Amino acid sequence: MLLEKVGAPLALRDVPKPKPGRGQLLVRVSVCAVCRTDLHIVDGELPNPKLPLILGHQIVGRVEEIPSSFGIRASSFAVGDRVGIPWLGWTDGDCPYCRSDRENLCDRAKFTGYNIDGGYAEFTVADARYCFHLPDDYGDVEVAPLLCAGMLGYRSYRKTGDAHRLGIYGFGNAAHLIAQIAIYKKKEIFAFTRPGDKTGQESARKLGAVWAGGSDEMPPEKLDAAIIFAPVGALVPAALRAVAKGGVVVCGGIHMSDIPSFPYVDLWNERVITSVANLTRRDGEEFLKLAPCVPLKTKVETFPLAEANTALEKFRDGQLDRTAVLVISFS
Ligand SMILES: [Zn+2]
Ligand SMILES: [Zn+2]
Repeated sequence: MLLEKVGAPLALRDVPKPKPGRGQLLVRVSVCAVCRTDLHIVDGELPNPKLPLILGHQIVGRVEEIPSSFGIRASSFAVGDRVGIPWLGWTDGDCPYCRSDRENLCDRAKFTGYNIDGGYAEFTVADARYCFHLPDDYGDVEVAPLLCAGMLGYRSYRKTGDAHRLGIYGFGNAAHLIAQIAIYKKKEIFAFTRPGDKTGQESARKLGAVWAGGSDEMPPEKLDAAIIFAPVGALVPAALRAVAKGGVVVCGGIHMSDIPSFPYVDLWNERVITSVANLTRRDGEEFLKLAPCVPLKTKVETFPLAEANTALEKFRDGQLDRTAVLVISFS
C-alpha cells in the first residue's frame, strides 16, 4: 500500500521487489502493526516523508535473502529467521550521539515507514543492525505491537526512574503495555483518560490501575512521575500539577499540539519535563527480554493489507480499543 501524496488515502499498487544492499536483509513481511505515527505521516504532521512511501514500522517477517556482500555481523540473522523491524531504521554510527550510545538522537537517522519504505507490503529490506530477534512465546500478530508502542513506551517508562506512583495520560496501546510492566514491577498506576471516558477508565482499573479518572481530574495523591502518551500539549501543565516535588513528566509521543503557558510555580521544586525520541537498540533488547517475563499481553485486531485505509480511519476515529495489525503473508 503506497502513500503517494500527504493527506490522500493509501493506494494498492504493484511495486518491484526491493533489493537488499550491503548490510541489509530482504524480509518477507508476515504482519505489520499500525501506529499513531502512521496517521501523523499521512496527515502531514511529520514533515517531508519519502514519497511515494510504504508506511509501517512494526514489522514481523522472515528473512528471505541475505546478500553475499553482506559484510559485518553476518552471523546475527540467517535465511528463514523471524525478524522484527522497528521505527529506527538507520543511523550513521559516527555522530556524537551514535558514539555515546544515543543513536536514537542521530542527526542523520532514518526511520522505517517514513524516510525509508516500511512494512505495509509483501517484502521490505532492512538494515540488519536495527532488526530484532523476537521472543518465541509470541505469535507474529501478538508480537507486532511490541515493536513500537511497546519499545517507545518502554523508553518513556525508563525515564521515570524509580517512581512508585506513576500517572499515565492517554490510555491507549502504549499505556496498556507499559502499565503491565509497571504493575509487574510493583508500581502503582494512575490512569488518566479523556474526561468522561468511563469505558477507558474501567479497562484501566481491570488491568490493575489503583485509580482511573479523567485528565481534568487530580489524582487522590501526588504522583512521582507521569507519562503523557496522548498528543495533547495541554496535558503537560496538567501533569506537572499532579506530580510531587522533583517529579518527572515524560512526553512519550512523536507529535503533540502546542503546550499552553503555565505559571513557573508549577515547574518549581525541581519538577522536570522531558520528551522521548525514537528508541535505542538497548531499549529494544531489554524490552523484548522483559516482555515474556511479565508476561505482556497485547490486544490486537487484524485487517488484510488491502484494508489498511479502513484500519487507519478506525484508529483515527477512536473506534479501535486495540492495536490494528495488517496481515500480509501470515502462515
Ligand atoms: Zn510507532
Ligand atoms: Zn549518528
